[in-house]
Amino acid sequence: MDIKSMTLEEVKPLVEELGEKSFRAAQLYQWLHEKLAESYEEMLNLPIDFRRRLGELKPLVKLRTVQVQESAQDGTRKYLFELPDGNLVESVWMKYHHGNSICISSQVGCRMGCRFCASTLDGLERNLLPSEMLEQIYCIVRHTGERVSNIVVMGTGEPLDNYEHLLRFIRLITVRGGLNISQRNITVSTCGLVPQIKRLAQEKLQITLALSLHAPFDEKRRELMPIANRYSLTEVIEACRYYAEQTGRRVTFEYALVAGVNDSKEDAAALERLLKPLNCHVNLIPVNPIKEREYRQSARTHIEAFKKHLEKNKINVTIRREMGRDIDGACGQLRRRHIKN
Ligand code: SAH
Repeated sequence: MDIKSMTLEEVKPLVEELGEKSFRAAQLYQWLHEKLAESYEEMLNLPIDFRRRLGELKPLVKLRTVQVQESAQDGTRKYLFELPDGNLVESVWMKYHHGNSICISSQVGCRMGCRFCASTLDGLERNLLPSEMLEQIYCIVRHTGERVSNIVVMGTGEPLDNYEHLLRFIRLITVRGGLNISQRNITVSTCGLVPQIKRLAQEKLQITLALSLHAPFDEKRRELMPIANRYSLTEVIEACRYYAEQTGRRVTFEYALVAGVNDSKEDAAALERLLKPLNCHVNLIPVNPIKEREYRQSARTHIEAFKKHLEKNKINVTIRREMGRDIDGACGQLRRRHIKN
């Protein structure tokens, strides 16, 4: 495993193998994860010979910033990064009143096939390494010079389809001696891989689980999301209930409103019945149209009515503020356009 994907405990034996005292491990770790060094040369309090041998043995995983787009509307920035093997991933930086939030990708492409999503159109290329997830954040922090308080794993990819690396990433980003981000400020979004949701529940982390629901009927959900052929709504909701029970965390349900597809009164009523027994939060997202598909946004009045129905029935609901619409905000759009060109 590359050094930036390793925990401090794992770095220690490596440092000793190279004939250095174990306190060097903490120094090295701090350079990588707190000071966000980009090269061994910068690590001036480490012996020069040690740095040279690290360089030979453990080349650092680095991302190259290909493009940064800044929204004129809300200051949201979208980053396109090139991975060491030439693949591209995108990440988003958003400024909110409560702090800065970064949305990262967990895979190159995706194999889940959701119909409205641009990230999945060419399938899955590969999983991202923990270091490649971290570096998206590190590059943005270096570039903006600002602290980050929230991380959402909602970019390209299905994070629970890259489970081991995701967990390692979460451990590394939340640990003292790194960016030390609170687990409560991390959200992982999934299309609903039931066994992995249950496994995640048992890790007893304090992260927020966001479930991409998008329809309150199995049949409709299958039309939008192939994963629904594998797991029924009953199974997915049960897994979310279990997650909430094990962790004490309120689950978020994401619901992208698509005109004429899932935005009717019946849909709102069915959604309300489905979620009533849960301590949850619903995030309504006006679908972001992609040119490869016909899906269109529901009218604003429709969206408001949908929200009202849930509110009336005591379900916590918000409409997601659309940020960065002028800069290809939706998953995978920037990367696709860049590859096409
Ligand atoms: N694979 C994970 C995380 C990545 S997608 C998941 O499915 O949750 C992040 C969120 O964006 C999901 O809720 C997804 O359904 C939603 N999404 C994807 N494309 C979208 C689009 N064009 N408009 C609105 N939401 C979209």
